[in-house]
Amino acid sequence: MMKAARLHAAGDLRVEDVPSPGEPAPGWVRLKVTAAGICGSDLHNFRTGQWISRAPSVAGHEFAGEVIAVGAGVSQFALGDRVVADSRFWCGECPACRAGRHNVCARLGFVGEVCDGGFAEETQLPARLLVRHDPTLDPATAAMAEPLAVALHAVRRLAAPAGAPVLIAGCGPIGGLAALLLSRPGERQVLVADRNGARAELVAKVSGATVVDLDALPCDPNLRHAIDATGSVAVMARLLDVLAGGGTLALVGISHGRLDLDPNLLVEREIALVGCHAFADELAPAVAMLGDLAASLSRFVSDEIAIGEIPAAYQRLIAGASGGLKTIVRMESGR
Ligand SMILES: [Zn+2]
Ligand SMILES: [Zn+2]
Repeated sequence: MMKAARLHAAGDLRVEDVPSPGEPAPGWVRLKVTAAGICGSDLHNFRTGQWISRAPSVAGHEFAGEVIAVGAGVSQFALGDRVVADSRFWCGECPACRAGRHNVCARLGFVGEVCDGGFAEETQLPARLLVRHDPTLDPATAAMAEPLAVALHAVRRLAAPAGAPVLIAGCGPIGGLAALLLSRPGERQVLVADRNGARAELVAKVSGATVVDLDALPCDPNLRHAIDATGSVAVMARLLDVLAGGGTLALVGISHGRLDLDPNLLVEREIALVGCHAFADELAPAVAMLGDLAASLSRFVSDEIAIGEIPAAYQRLIAGASGGLKTIVRMESGR
């Protein structure tokens, strides 16, 4: 038996004793989870039940673990390997998958929803969804590989030229990690905005970005690139207002509501709206960056909790009572 946090229905997350996964099926790998992150989409699914396709389901799609058993045909992993999980449960057979575009797979589901996830002492996944990480990394750092891949994908989709300033609205984990990635090469001004002043200050301090007030931001003819990591349609509309002609707005937040948009705004000012869904092939590069970014990533961790504290942490995060970015569930065996 093992402990697991399972979503039974909207608003109903329970920490329970459940049977451990059995021997892995061919192509699958059984993991001892070392650390897992709580994501905004976990909270969204808990609140709305929008993505519940099976219940109960062990939640959690941002996690790291240690290989403890491999199924038949798995030769790329050995017992004791430290790995991070891909969150995208892609089919591998549809035209998008065959073209290597797994994040727009026709049957895409997410780990923790279509299969059991990482809020458990043990879990299992297909070997194709695992990437080995440096075993000397703190598991809490390794568990941030998935959101780092999401941020890296948004930054790549934005494609701001070297030196071009970038405005990021929303200083949650994805906005914060995008600020960190964009500031890294230096030589670029990164502006960050968030209604939560403490979070904006934290992101600015860790990444070297500058905090701005989105409502009071003057028009700057050089500012052509922005990322929305809020999902707020009011914020998106404001970003379209402040961007100079020829710009790009990348959308990575999960939105509520509809955007009322005059298409002439995009045509006459030649502004590109770019959607960013999860990540494409950015997980391995994100894992490769973890060592260099470890010190900064650890400053984004606001709390470390045990598995039994997940339901209370959900409530705290939904109430907005956190000035930090990421809550990490550290499993007892995670050191
Ligand atoms: Zn996530
Ligand atoms: Zn597919």
